[in-house]
Amino acid sequence: MAASTPAHHVLVLNAGSSSIKYVVFDAGDLSERARGQVERIGEPGGEAGNHRQALALIVDELGKAGIDGNDLVAVGHRVVHGGEAFTAPTRVNDDALQTIRDLASLAPLHNPANADGIEVARHAFPGIPHVAVFDTAFHATMPAHAYRYAVPEAVYREHGVRRYGFHGTSHQYVTGETARRLGCPVDQVNLVSLHLGNGASACAVRGGRSIDTSMGMTPLAGLVMGTRPGDIDPGVLLHLATSAGYSADDLSALLNRESGLKGLCGAGDMREVLRRSASGDEAAELAVRKFCYQAAKQVGAYAAALGRVDALVFTAGIGENNPEIRAGICAELCALGIHVDPKRNAAPQDNGFAIHASGSKIVVYVIPTREEFEIARQTLTFVEDTGSFVTP
Ligand code: ADP
Repeated sequence: MAASTPAHHVLVLNAGSSSIKYVVFDAGDLSERARGQVERIGEPGGEAGNHRQALALIVDELGKAGIDGNDLVAVGHRVVHGGEAFTAPTRVNDDALQTIRDLASLAPLHNPANADGIEVARHAFPGIPHVAVFDTAFHATMPAHAYRYAVPEAVYREHGVRRYGFHGTSHQYVTGETARRLGCPVDQVNLVSLHLGNGASACAVRGGRSIDTSMGMTPLAGLVMGTRPGDIDPGVLLHLATSAGYSADDLSALLNRESGLKGLCGAGDMREVLRRSASGDEAAELAVRKFCYQAAKQVGAYAAALGRVDALVFTAGIGENNPEIRAGICAELCALGIHVDPKRNAAPQDNGFAIHASGSKIVVYVIPTREEFEIARQTLTFVEDTGSFVTP
């Protein structure tokens, strides 16, 4: 159609197995122009039978919002696992798409759906760059002593068994925002970031780069989560397999769906856990205490790794919204000189705010994460840096 139509939007797609979420940003000032999602893809009574139909619905919705496919500068795609192949935003061609599919062995729940989303979007918007932004990429700067497990080198080389880390886009976004608030260049900021949602991870950032993170080869490791246990003695799994008859599927269900807060007290949603805890449910009290203790231990470990910590940052559903959990974690960190101001901690948090007391040695921020914004920013930076506005 009109070749002269000015291209001035960037579309961000997050394709899961049963949903596609989208956000459209103005390519000039990165203000948000539209957002929505198609859910229950392929399910009975769902809006769309497959990803192609879901994207057609999204194109319709964009049209109603006055956004034409010809207005798009680029599409940024969230991809969970980049393995060792992708350490930065990458323009998706046929080879890259195949590599994303091949990484399904490392992220079986996510990468195939991410790849399906990219495939249908490349057909729907053929003339523009499609840029994959990986959850693992921010952690590509970890040194070997952080990303290697103490297992034989052959196991690492042959099976990709190493720490990759996740939530990278979120940790990177709050790193940039923290530097901005501190008024220092991002490459000078040292911080610990706590992304506390259904999934939860901590990240140690030195000079604006990830040097360690609590999730590992998979998103099961590290902090206590809604239904995942976080760190656990690997011998437990051997024990359950050899002495209690657990199959690989049983272990997967145990670790992905039945553990964490839910395993400890029967509820995986932190709001429900806190309600039960407030009414004197001892299992829920334990779940809250364990959640905070584990997170605080991780912050302490990263303070040791970093040497100097300028800021502790809370983000994602629990980190952004719950003063009690923030206070519970910080209460375990007095040894680091971290002190929270109860009034500030309880205050509303429109665009992120500082919650530390005036005598605190480390600044404590609450910063709402904006993963889609960060994907849009990285996508635009990529197309500007590579001059790929006009496709061959
Ligand atoms: P996801 O990891 O799925 O993106 P979110 O970042 O949205 O999830 O976080 C979801 C979690 O945040 C849930 O455990 C939910 O209970 C919790 N949450 C949201 N609001 C609050 C709140 N006000 N207090 C406590 N927990 C909250």
